[in-house]
Amino acid sequence: MEFVEPKIFLVGETRIIEEGLQAYLKHVGAPDWKTDAPSDAEKLCEVMGRLCYRSFKPGLNPNVTRVREGNDTYLAHIMEVGHGSVIEHSVLNFIFADVSRVFTHELVRHRAGSAFSQESLRFVRLDKLSAYAPMHIRESEEGMAIFARTLEHLEEVQRELAEVYKIDDEKKFDVKKKLTSAFRRIAPDGVATAIGWSCNFRALRHVIEMRTEPSAEEEIRLVFGKVFEVVKDRYPNLLGDYEVEMVEGLPWVKTKHGKV
Ligand SMILES: Cc1cc2nc3c(=O)[nH]c(=O)nc-3n(C[C@H](O)[C@H](O)[C@H](O)COP(=O)(O)OP(=O)(O)OC[C@H]3O[C@@H](n4cnc5c(N)ncnc54)[C@H](O)[C@@H]3O)c2cc1C
Repeated sequence: MEFVEPKIFLVGETRIIEEGLQAYLKHVGAPDWKTDAPSDAEKLCEVMGRLCYRSFKPGLNPNVTRVREGNDTYLAHIMEVGHGSVIEHSVLNFIFADVSRVFTHELVRHRAGSAFSQESLRFVRLDKLSAYAPMHIRESEEGMAIFARTLEHLEEVQRELAEVYKIDDEKKFDVKKKLTSAFRRIAPDGVATAIGWSCNFRALRHVIEMRTEPSAEEEIRLVFGKVFEVVKDRYPNLLGDYEVEMVEGLPWVKTKHGKV
């Protein structure tokens, strides 16, 4: 048994294929268009947004006589007017490890703009149990002792069941799977596991806003506070409108341009 902290790994992000973009810019009549976007994710959102009005330069569309210069200014305007579909084009890929099933149940409710791959506890046997200790539990030595003792007991139960049903001697994988799934039913909701989450930037912003809000559950607040730390300087023009207020030691990440 072990107490663990949730871990956040940013493992993927949108990449521009420059050759393809240049070919498109030539096609639309803006071969010299450049941007100062700090990342491909921000550049792609700008391109997709400018495509709508052909606003790569004045005159490409006779109705457009001036354009906003700079990725920062351009994307800030997108947030201001709530044209959020533009920022759906760029995506990020995260892996969250040592997070509980409490956390994963809450995360998977965010359907729009998300993709998930969750560690299968039908396949992956719980021979060891680890868990996050919530802050209220940590405040009491007695409470921590109850938490630790219960986890140790439940871990022992998993081992006992494995012995009773001789799962290690079982040759058929489908039987192992059925047994593994049966055993997990008495593992705690707080058991640490892993989930992969891919999201577009519109979904990312929405989930950061909802899940760092102080009425959200502690672990998901902790995770999305960390997510914000990981992404805020990497994509400043997509996330620069946020400010952070600390509440109960956790960041509340908020903006006046909520839910773009
Ligand atoms: C503090 C807190 C307490 C909660 N308590 C509970 C609870 O007690 N019980 C419970 O069941 N859930 C609870 N939830 C979960 C909550 O109800 C949402 O299911 C979850 O937060 C996902 O958010 P979302 O609906 O914005 O979905 P997302 O998938 O993140 O969608 C983003 C946005 O896209 C739009 N959208 C998405 N899907 C549709 C659709 N099918 N039709 C139309 N528009 C759509 C909506 O505008 C939505 O806000 C809680 C959430 C929080 C933050």
